[in-house]
This record gives sequence, C-alpha cells and structure tokens, in this order.
Amino acid sequence: MSISAARPAGTRRSGIDSDAVLAAFDRDVVATNGRVVRVRPSQASDREAMQLFYDRLSDRSIYQRFFGLRPPALDRQLHPSAGNNIGDRVVMLALDDLEVIGVGEYARVRERDEAEAAFAVADSHQHEGIATVLLEDLALIAREAGFRRLVAETLAGNNAMQLVFRTVGLTERTWYEHGQVHVELDLADEELIEDSADGRDWRAAVASLRPLLSPTHIVVIGAGRDPSSVGRVLLANLVSSFTGRISVVHPTEETVGGVPAVAHLADLDAAADLAVIVVPAANVVSVADECGRAGVGALVVITAGFAETGAAGADRERELLATARRYGMRVLGPNCLGLVSTQGGLNVTFMRQSMAPGSIAIASQSGGVGIVLASEAARRHLGVSSFVSLGNKVDVSGNDVLRYWADDPSTSVVLMYLESIGDPRRFARIARAVSRRVPIVALKSGRSEAGKRGARSHTAALATDDVAVDALFAHTGVVRANTLDQMLDVAALLAVQPAPSGRRVALVGNAGGPLILAADAASANGLDVVEFSAGLQQRLRLLVPDAAATSNPVDLLATVDVGSVLGVLGAIAASGEVDACAVVSVNLGANAPAPWQLDWSDTSIPAVAVLLGGLNATGTMPTYATPERAMDAIGLAATRGAWLAATADEHVVESHVDLLALRRQVRQLLPAPHDRHEETAWLTTTDTFGLLETLGIPIAPWAVGRSGRECVRHAQHLGFPCVLKADVIGVVHKSEEGAVVLGVASATMVRQVVSAFQHRFGDRLRHIVVQRQAEPGVEMLIGAVRDPGIGPMVVVAAGGTEAELLGDRSVLLAPVTAARARSALEQLRTFPLLRGFRGRPVVPVEPLVDIIGRIGLLMATVPEILELDLNPIIAAPGGCLAVDARIAVAPHVVLPMRAMRQPHQPPGTPVTSAGAR
Ligand code: ADP
Ligand code: MG
Repeated sequence: MSISAARPAGTRRSGIDSDAVLAAFDRDVVATNGRVVRVRPSQASDREAMQLFYDRLSDRSIYQRFFGLRPPALDRQLHPSAGNNIGDRVVMLALDDLEVIGVGEYARVRERDEAEAAFAVADSHQHEGIATVLLEDLALIAREAGFRRLVAETLAGNNAMQLVFRTVGLTERTWYEHGQVHVELDLADEELIEDSADGRDWRAAVASLRPLLSPTHIVVIGAGRDPSSVGRVLLANLVSSFTGRISVVHPTEETVGGVPAVAHLADLDAAADLAVIVVPAANVVSVADECGRAGVGALVVITAGFAETGAAGADRERELLATARRYGMRVLGPNCLGLVSTQGGLNVTFMRQSMAPGSIAIASQSGGVGIVLASEAARRHLGVSSFVSLGNKVDVSGNDVLRYWADDPSTSVVLMYLESIGDPRRFARIARAVSRRVPIVALKSGRSEAGKRGARSHTAALATDDVAVDALFAHTGVVRANTLDQMLDVAALLAVQPAPSGRRVALVGNAGGPLILAADAASANGLDVVEFSAGLQQRLRLLVPDAAATSNPVDLLATVDVGSVLGVLGAIAASGEVDACAVVSVNLGANAPAPWQLDWSDTSIPAVAVLLGGLNATGTMPTYATPERAMDAIGLAATRGAWLAATADEHVVESHVDLLALRRQVRQLLPAPHDRHEETAWLTTTDTFGLLETLGIPIAPWAVGRSGRECVRHAQHLGFPCVLKADVIGVVHKSEEGAVVLGVASATMVRQVVSAFQHRFGDRLRHIVVQRQAEPGVEMLIGAVRDPGIGPMVVVAAGGTEAELLGDRSVLLAPVTAARARSALEQLRTFPLLRGFRGRPVVPVEPLVDIIGRIGLLMATVPEILELDLNPIIAAPGGCLAVDARIAVAPHVVLPMRAMRQPHQPPGTPVTSAGAR
C-alpha cells in the first residue's frame, strides 16, 4: 500500500492545520527513569537514523513489531517525510541525543474514522515509558485530526505492549484472533487521557527531583576565600547540616571553608548528584556544561543576573536550560535562595535563619518572601519539612515540588507564595490531585480587578484575572490566603488537624467579653456559632460550675482549669453538633500563670486556642493572639473541608450529545484562512442558535427572515406576541441600537418593524430574527471564556448589564459538576430572586444547572470556542429559555500533554494545550 503524501481535501478548510499541530509535538519529555528524551515528528533527514534504529532492533523486537521476519525493504517505515499529515499518517520519534530510540506511527484505515497504530522501542530503552509517551501523542494528534478510534494489533505474547495500551487508559475493547491481540482505543474521552498521563508523568517528575531533594554527594562551585560571601555562608550552612559527602571546586585553594577542594569538577573521584552553582552569571552556563559532562543529576543555581535583568539575561537563562536538558539535569533557580530539607539534614541556602524540623513545606517564588515565611514560621514555633526557593523557575516549578510533597511522609501542609502561575492548566490538574492528599495554602500576589482581556462580551468582562485565580483555586481545593499572616495562621491549623467539614463552631472560654468578640469574628468569617441541643447542654452541665453558661458560647468562668476546658471540648466534639472548636481564654490573674498544657488529639474536628492577656500554652493545639485571627484561620480551613466534601462524589453533568460531531460542526464554521481578518470571529445568529440547540440548550423558538412577508409568515407560525431583532453588521449590543423590538402583536406591526429596520440599518442589515416572546421571569447570564492559561471557565451571573456593575458572579472551571453548578448559583447575591423574593414566583434551579453543565462540556471538548455568552436566559416557573447568544471562535492547535519547558520558549510560557493561543 502506498501512502499518499497529498493533503486530504478539506483538512485546511475544516480548521486543522496539520503542520501546526505537528510542530507543537516537538519537545523534551522526562522518561520514567528521570532522563530527558526528545520526542518529535519525523523529518526527511531522519532516514538514516531510522534505518540504524531498525537495523539494531533485536530479532525479537522486529518480530513483535512486524509479526515476522525483518522485512526486506523497510521503505514504508523509512519515508519519514512522505506522509506526515495528521489526516493520513504520522510518524513520531523518540531520540536520545541524536540516536532514534523509539518510533510510533499511525496510518488511516481507509474509509473509516479510525487509524492503525504501531510501535517499536530500542531494546536498551524498553520499560522507560517511551512507547507510552508515543502512544499518548498519537492518540492526541489522531483525535485532533478527527479520528474516533486508534486500533492496534500486537502479538499475543507481547505483554509489554499490551500494558502500554492499558496504561494510556483508553482501551475500548480488545479481542484475540489468529494469535494476535487487537486493541481499540476510544479517543473521545479527553479527561481520561489527561488524567492518566498526569499519573505517569508524576512518577517520572518525582524521580527526576530526587538528586535535588535527597542528594548523597553535593559539590559547591563558586565558594571563594571571603568567609562572608554568599558562597561561603552557603557552604558553612551545608557543612553544619549535611551528613553526606560535600566537595568544593576551587581553581587555586586546597581547602575552602574546611572542605577539601579540587581544581576541576572532572578531578572528583566520584560524580556528585547535586551541584550548587554560586559563580558569576557569565560563567554559569559553562559550569553547567561541565556538570553535565561530569554526570551531575541536578543543579541549584543561586546566581542572579538572568531573565530578571532583561534580554541578555533571558538569553543566558535559555542557554542554561538548553545545557541542562542536553544532559538531563534538573535546575532549581536561577536567582534563588536554594533549598532546605530538615528531614534530609540539608541546608543549601545562604539564609542565616535556621529552620526547626516540622511538617510544613514551603515553596516561594520570591526569595525575600521565602525568608519572611521561614522566620515567621520559626517565631510561631512551626517546624518546616522542606523549603524551596523557586527563583526564576527556569525548570523546576511549583508543579514539580507539589508532586514531590504529595508523597512526602514528613509533609502535612504545603505553603506556596506565587507571583505567576506558569502553566495554570497543568497546575489545576496537579494541585487538584495533590490537594486530595495534602492541604495546599497559597498566597498569589497581584490581586487586582483590572481585567486584561480586551473583550466584547459581558462574560469576558466579568471574568477578570483575579476571579480566574479564585476559580482555579476553588476548583483545585487550594486555600487562598490574602496575607502572609493568614497563610501561617491557617497552616498552623492544617499542619496538625483536619479541615473543618462545615462552618459550625463552638466557643469555650473563661470570660464573657472575649467570647462575644470571638462570636462576632466568627460571623464575620461566615462561621456559625450554633446553639447546642438540650441534650448536649445537659451533658455539659455535669462538667461545669453551676453558674456557667452551657449554650454556645460556653462561659466556664474565671476559675476554670485546663482539665475542665479539655473535658468540655471533648464532650462538644463527640456531639457532632459543631465542625470546629475554639478556646478563648484570658489571663485574669495579676501575673501570667504557668503555661496551659493544651493537647488535642481528637481527629474528628479541629480545635484551636486564643490566648489573651499574657496567657501561654504548650502542647499540640494551634494558638492565636486574637479571636479574629483564629476565626479567620478556621473559616479558611473550612473552605478546604467543603472542597473535600464536594469532590468526594462528583460527576460531571452529562449531555448525551455527540460532542465530537459538534466540534466538527464548529470547525466547519471557522473562517477560511484567506478571509480571516482577525483570528477570532463571532458566529452568525443562525449558526449560534443552531449549535446551542444541538447541545441541548433551550432557545426561545426563532426563525430568520429577510423580507416583511417572510417575517410575517414566521411570526404567524411562532405566535403573537413575538420579538423582532435586527442582525446588523458591527452591532454588538442590539437593544442599545434599537435593533430589538418586543411585544410585536400583529402582522401589520411585523411589517412596520421590518421596514423600520431596513430604513434604519440599510446595507448593514444581514437579516431579521423573529423570535417567540418568552414569559416573564428572572434574567440570568451563563457564559464562558477560555483563559489562555487556565483554560475554559464558565461564568454564572444575573442577566443584563447590571451584573457587571455589581460584580455579582460565580466563576467555575470547565467541565462542571452538578454540585458545583448549583453552589455557583446559590453564591450569587441575586440568588434570592430565583427563590421567590418579595412575592415573585419560585423558579426551578435544575434547568439552569443543566445549562451550566452543558456549556462546561462544550467548552471542555471544543477548544475552538473562545467566548460564549447566553444573555439573557429567562428563568421562569415553567422553565428556562435563552433568547440571546453569542459565540466567538478561532482555530486551535493541540499541544502535547507532556513537555518540559523548552529552551526556545520564554519562561512562563504555558506548555499544555491551554497555551495554544
Ligand atoms: P442585546 O443583548 O443584543 O441587546 P437581546 O436579544 O438580549 O439583545 O434583547 C435585549 C432584551 O430584550 C433582553 O435582555 C430581554 O430582556 C428582552 N428579550 C429579547 N428577546 C426576548 C424574547 N424572545 N422574549 C422575551 N424577552 C426578550
Ligand atoms: Mg442580550
């Protein structure tokens, strides 16, 4: 069979640019053994390398690949450039340096929407996850090309290859025939591909960080003669903490800081797994190269003077990354403080602040904030498990350390200070998975309302950057702190206790006034000081002095001792009537009494203490200096509890709609390349309504006419009164331009309105939409935007332009679960309007939940849709109807799931499909 090199007719027209898709799949990937492998589409110049690859394959591998003897002519395989068109045939290569170590390909099965895939991996590189990466790529590319299935045949004995298919997680069915196993992969399920890819990438990423976070031999390069220099302070920290081997490279000295030095890295008798580089910026790249040649596994680059200083520095930073990639080394920094692992006895920083061992892991993009966090943690007696200063994040990012800490037994809470989120889409998937295991508290600086997306829809105006970050954190269960204090306050709680699973709190104390302040602080933080049941109060009465108050707050009077306080807390916790407890105690004597021993080992609910007037405590219970801070911490921790509860049994709203077919439909509507003035285009009303109806969104019945006669016919068919809307070129908000007429009651009126429209808009009038008039109800807005970093977000708000003024909206990451959609509606300040506010009728919420879910699915499966606006949807007791909608589309380029940041990309460039535009 000859493979046609011709571009299949229509590929370009249907919005797929084969070359653009393939170009995006050229990048570096970490193999499961932590080494970096280049994965890319084949090129004409690969012919020789591929020939060599097939020549070297063992007979067994050849047999498994070709089901027989080495084929006399490998011509089909060796025309790498002949057929790389995603609609027909794709060959992907994995390379170790210049050597081909794996080939994966697919070819269209004629007349069907499926492609057949095959793989071979060099004998010496099997079990490194290479075939899996190739299969993932082929699956993504094939899906982008519109294939529904990828099929493959393997020999019955080829268990390794069958395992590969299974780990990609898409197997639809397998069957056995003539000694061959047939496998079919279903390409329709996007989430599944991404989720299982993250799982595999996870292990590789964690493995690649090991030389960084648990090294056995560290070499310091750049520590000089001056004992007060950064390099020497760092070396001294290292010497006093690290029990493994330490080496120093110095051109002239025999010892530096008491450590024997060698003149060149190559002089070391054994390779170091971690190199710490403190040399001047101009020398960093050449030192990194030396490290690579000496077999170093990871670099910590303390030196500043890179991208933060401008273009020349950015070039140097890219060179550094390229060098590290060449040798498969991971890089922390540059321009960073270094890292600490108290468990591993590792202090690779020049900080004078020492850290007590504990269970808090800290990642900071800023070195300065890192120092503040470390010293504040120490001041509050909070111990640290590891501390990583990310610096310019040229390679190792927050996503990497998060995954490392998720499985780190000594970490119980993660604190992150972020100035930017390099790859939010990836962060979303990783943080979500990590959050299930370990709480993450993040402080993202740069809160501001300035919406940067110059956009024309209401939806886009509502989804500002900061709201997007909120949506991202809410989706991933990350607790968002607003200040450094808040961050440490909530960390103190989450480090030792579970998150409250609700917002009910009990307050127990020894003085009335502070308890009232605490109750006020509780309600200011959305916490509920619930009244105890009669039964619980009765039980408490047995534990407290006669005059004590047993309702909530519980005032135990001045003379109470620690034992009674803990007894009361125990009874309250056992009742199940609250989700968190706080002890609010003030020193009522003249002198500070001996410290209270406050131990709390109950794992069902958290308990904290507020100690006032010089009261001190020891023990495990987190303590706070004011009631406000304690309640703030409990309130923030409760957002995690709510997230855990919501994710326990979540399912995405189902549409029962063929979303792949819908995507094809959208692609047909993309503007052809030659008439693209802008990349983005707004669909016509007819196309917009048509699409939404296919998706199952209820639209007020409509028809399009051009003449008065035609419109009268439509109006008579739809029934009076009806609504007439002029579709006018260049008009965005129709009613503002007099292009919407409501309550059109007769044929005569239809004719009048039509001629008025014609008169008014002239040539700009495309056509007229005749629409049934919806029954009165509450006007809602449901929309969506695709953030270039975060990906698709669904916005829910009150309809009309007022919503923008009020800022009353909820933002969700797509796809959306029914529970999230419901709570998004409930969070709106205008939600009472749907619930029969002031004698209005009650409007059912479920139809709105269904619409939100469907829009979420659409956004998740059709990346060509950039913006969507249903405004308004009229929600009435009889159901919901959308009466106006807008959709903006643009071509989309899929990107590989797994990719390390590329040297040719500026730092911060997203590398997943979200960054395609
Ligand atoms: P635009 O948003 O471009 O100004 P719309 O089609 O949203 O135009 O119409 C403006 C307003 O007219 C809507 O917010 C709604 O209040 C009312 N409206 C439009 N179409 C209908 C309809 N079919 N039934 C009832 N009210 C309608
Ligand atoms: Mg509108």
